[in-house]
Amino acid sequence: MMRNRWRGFGIAVSRFLVVITVGVAACDPYQCGTEARSATYEGRLGQSIPPTVTLADNASGRVFLMLNEWRGSISQQNVIASVNIRGFVSTVSEIHVHEGRLGDSGRVLLKLANGYLVGDSAWKTGMELFAGPASWGDLWSLLNSGRGYFEVHSSSGDSVSAALGQASISDFAPSCT
Ligand SMILES: [Zn+2]
Repeated sequence: MMRNRWRGFGIAVSRFLVVITVGVAACDPYQCGTEARSATYEGRLGQSIPPTVTLADNASGRVFLMLNEWRGSISQQNVIASVNIRGFVSTVSEIHVHEGRLGDSGRVLLKLANGYLVGDSAWKTGMELFAGPASWGDLWSLLNSGRGYFEVHSSSGDSVSAALGQASISDFAPSCT
Protein backbone atom coordinates (compact mmCIF):
# COMPACT_ATOMS: atom_id res chain seq x y z
CA MET A 1 0.00 0.00 0.00
CA MET A 2 2.69 2.48 1.01
CA ARG A 3 4.78 1.46 -1.95
CA ASN A 4 1.93 2.22 -4.37
CA ARG A 5 1.35 5.65 -2.94
CA TRP A 6 4.98 6.61 -3.25
CA ARG A 7 5.11 5.36 -6.79
CA GLY A 8 2.07 7.47 -7.66
CA PHE A 9 3.66 10.54 -6.13
CA GLY A 10 6.84 9.91 -8.10
CA ILE A 11 4.96 9.86 -11.37
CA ALA A 12 3.16 13.09 -10.56
CA VAL A 13 6.45 14.85 -9.78
CA SER A 14 8.03 13.62 -13.00
CA ARG A 15 5.18 15.00 -15.06
CA PHE A 16 5.42 18.34 -13.28
CA LEU A 17 9.16 18.56 -13.97
CA VAL A 18 8.61 17.80 -17.63
CA VAL A 19 6.12 20.65 -17.93
CA ILE A 20 8.47 23.10 -16.19
CA THR A 21 11.42 22.10 -18.38
CA VAL A 22 9.41 22.63 -21.55
CA GLY A 23 8.25 26.01 -20.29
CA VAL A 24 11.78 27.25 -19.67
CA ALA A 25 13.10 25.89 -22.94
CA ALA A 26 10.38 27.58 -24.99
CA CYS A 27 10.65 31.05 -23.49
CA ASP A 28 13.22 33.76 -23.24
CA PRO A 29 13.19 34.61 -19.52
CA TYR A 30 12.84 38.35 -20.16
CA GLN A 31 9.95 37.91 -22.53
CA CYS A 32 8.07 35.51 -20.28
CA GLY A 33 9.00 36.92 -16.91
CA THR A 34 8.29 40.64 -17.27
CA GLU A 35 5.01 42.48 -17.53
CA ALA A 36 4.53 46.19 -18.10
CA ARG A 37 1.74 48.71 -17.78
CA SER A 38 1.57 52.42 -18.43
CA ALA A 39 -0.76 55.38 -18.20
CA THR A 40 -0.70 58.91 -19.57
CA TYR A 41 -2.32 62.07 -18.23
CA GLU A 42 -2.86 65.51 -19.71
CA GLY A 43 -3.78 68.85 -18.31
CA ARG A 44 -3.58 72.58 -18.97
CA LEU A 45 -1.90 75.02 -16.59
CA GLY A 46 -4.40 77.22 -14.80
CA GLN A 47 -7.36 74.97 -15.63
CA SER A 48 -9.30 73.07 -12.99
CA ILE A 49 -11.08 70.87 -15.52
CA PRO A 50 -8.93 68.42 -17.47
CA PRO A 51 -9.03 68.54 -21.27
CA THR A 52 -11.50 66.18 -22.93
CA VAL A 53 -9.56 66.01 -26.19
CA THR A 54 -5.91 65.23 -26.88
CA LEU A 55 -3.89 68.45 -26.90
CA ALA A 56 -1.27 69.31 -29.50
CA ASP A 57 2.25 68.87 -28.15
CA ASN A 58 2.80 72.64 -28.32
CA ALA A 59 -0.61 73.68 -26.92
CA SER A 60 -0.33 76.57 -24.47
CA GLY A 61 0.10 75.34 -20.91
CA ARG A 62 -0.08 71.67 -21.88
CA VAL A 63 0.97 69.24 -19.16
CA PHE A 64 1.86 65.68 -20.07
CA LEU A 65 2.66 62.91 -17.63
CA MET A 66 3.48 59.26 -18.33
CA LEU A 67 3.76 56.49 -15.74
CA ASN A 68 5.54 53.24 -16.66
CA GLU A 69 5.80 50.14 -14.51
CA TRP A 70 7.57 46.83 -15.06
CA ARG A 71 7.22 43.84 -12.74
CA GLY A 72 8.57 40.30 -12.70
CA SER A 73 12.11 39.54 -13.92
CA ILE A 74 12.63 43.29 -14.28
CA SER A 75 11.12 45.60 -11.68
CA GLN A 76 11.08 49.33 -12.30
CA GLN A 77 8.79 52.35 -12.07
CA ASN A 78 9.51 55.50 -13.99
CA VAL A 79 7.90 58.76 -14.99
CA ILE A 80 8.16 61.17 -17.91
CA ALA A 81 6.83 64.73 -17.54
CA SER A 82 6.54 67.69 -19.88
CA VAL A 83 4.96 71.09 -19.38
CA ASN A 84 4.60 74.05 -21.75
CA ILE A 85 5.51 76.92 -19.44
CA ARG A 86 5.57 79.93 -21.78
CA GLY A 87 3.25 82.60 -20.43
CA PHE A 88 2.97 80.94 -17.01
CA VAL A 89 6.44 80.69 -15.43
CA SER A 90 9.89 81.42 -16.82
CA THR A 91 11.85 78.90 -14.77
CA VAL A 92 11.10 75.56 -13.15
CA SER A 93 12.50 74.39 -9.84
CA GLU A 94 10.25 71.35 -9.37
CA ILE A 95 7.09 69.80 -10.70
CA HIS A 96 4.72 68.00 -8.38
CA VAL A 97 1.69 65.77 -8.52
CA HIS A 98 -0.41 66.51 -5.45
CA GLU A 99 -3.22 64.40 -4.04
CA GLY A 100 -6.74 65.77 -4.41
CA ARG A 101 -8.30 68.40 -6.62
CA LEU A 102 -6.94 71.80 -7.60
CA GLY A 103 -6.93 74.05 -4.56
CA ASP A 104 -6.87 71.19 -2.06
CA SER A 105 -3.15 71.60 -1.23
CA GLY A 106 -2.96 67.83 -0.89
CA ARG A 107 0.22 65.94 -0.03
CA VAL A 108 2.92 65.59 -2.68
CA LEU A 109 2.75 62.22 -4.45
CA LEU A 110 5.42 62.82 -7.08
CA LYS A 111 8.29 65.29 -7.15
CA LEU A 112 10.65 65.78 -10.11
CA ALA A 113 13.40 68.39 -10.34
CA ASN A 114 15.64 66.83 -12.98
CA GLY A 115 14.43 68.37 -16.23
CA TYR A 116 15.54 70.77 -18.93
CA LEU A 117 14.15 73.86 -20.62
CA VAL A 118 13.38 73.69 -24.32
CA GLY A 119 13.89 77.29 -25.40
CA ASP A 120 11.60 79.38 -23.22
CA SER A 121 8.54 77.36 -24.05
CA ALA A 122 8.70 73.96 -22.37
CA TRP A 123 10.27 72.01 -19.55
CA LYS A 124 10.76 68.29 -19.95
CA THR A 125 12.22 65.39 -18.05
CA GLY A 126 13.79 62.27 -19.48
CA MET A 127 12.64 58.88 -18.24
CA GLU A 128 13.07 59.45 -14.50
CA LEU A 129 13.13 56.66 -11.94
CA PHE A 130 10.21 57.13 -9.56
CA ALA A 131 11.45 58.31 -6.15
CA GLY A 132 8.29 59.36 -4.33
CA PRO A 133 7.72 60.95 -1.95
CA ALA A 134 4.49 58.86 -1.93
CA SER A 135 4.38 55.18 -2.83
CA TRP A 136 4.11 54.18 -6.47
CA GLY A 137 0.83 52.40 -5.70
CA ASP A 138 -0.69 55.57 -4.27
CA LEU A 139 0.45 57.67 -7.24
CA TRP A 140 -0.90 55.14 -9.73
CA SER A 141 -4.28 54.59 -8.08
CA LEU A 142 -4.98 58.20 -7.07
CA LEU A 143 -4.27 59.49 -10.57
CA ASN A 144 -6.31 56.63 -12.02
CA SER A 145 -9.30 57.65 -9.91
CA GLY A 146 -8.98 61.36 -10.76
CA ARG A 147 -7.60 62.36 -7.38
CA GLY A 148 -4.32 63.96 -8.37
CA TYR A 149 -3.36 67.33 -9.86
CA PHE A 150 -0.21 68.80 -11.35
CA GLU A 151 1.76 71.79 -10.07
CA VAL A 152 4.80 73.51 -11.53
CA HIS A 153 6.95 75.50 -9.10
CA SER A 154 9.24 78.25 -10.37
CA SER A 155 12.57 79.31 -8.88
CA SER A 156 10.99 82.64 -7.81
CA GLY A 157 8.36 80.85 -5.74
CA ASP A 158 5.43 81.15 -8.13
CA SER A 159 3.39 78.06 -8.88
CA VAL A 160 0.69 77.13 -11.37
CA SER A 161 -1.52 74.05 -11.21
CA ALA A 162 -3.47 71.95 -13.66
CA ALA A 163 -6.15 69.32 -13.29
CA LEU A 164 -5.08 66.02 -14.84
CA GLY A 165 -7.23 63.83 -17.04
CA GLN A 166 -6.35 60.31 -18.09
CA ALA A 167 -5.43 60.13 -21.77
CA SER A 168 -4.57 56.42 -21.90
CA ILE A 169 -4.01 53.40 -19.68
CA SER A 170 -2.92 49.83 -20.29
CA ASP A 171 -3.20 46.87 -17.93
CA PHE A 172 -0.22 44.61 -17.21
CA ALA A 173 0.78 42.73 -20.35
CA PRO A 174 3.86 40.63 -21.23
CA SER A 175 6.74 42.92 -22.11
CA CYS A 176 9.09 41.53 -24.74
CA THR A 177 12.22 43.52 -25.38
ZN1 LIG B 1 3.57 71.58 -5.29
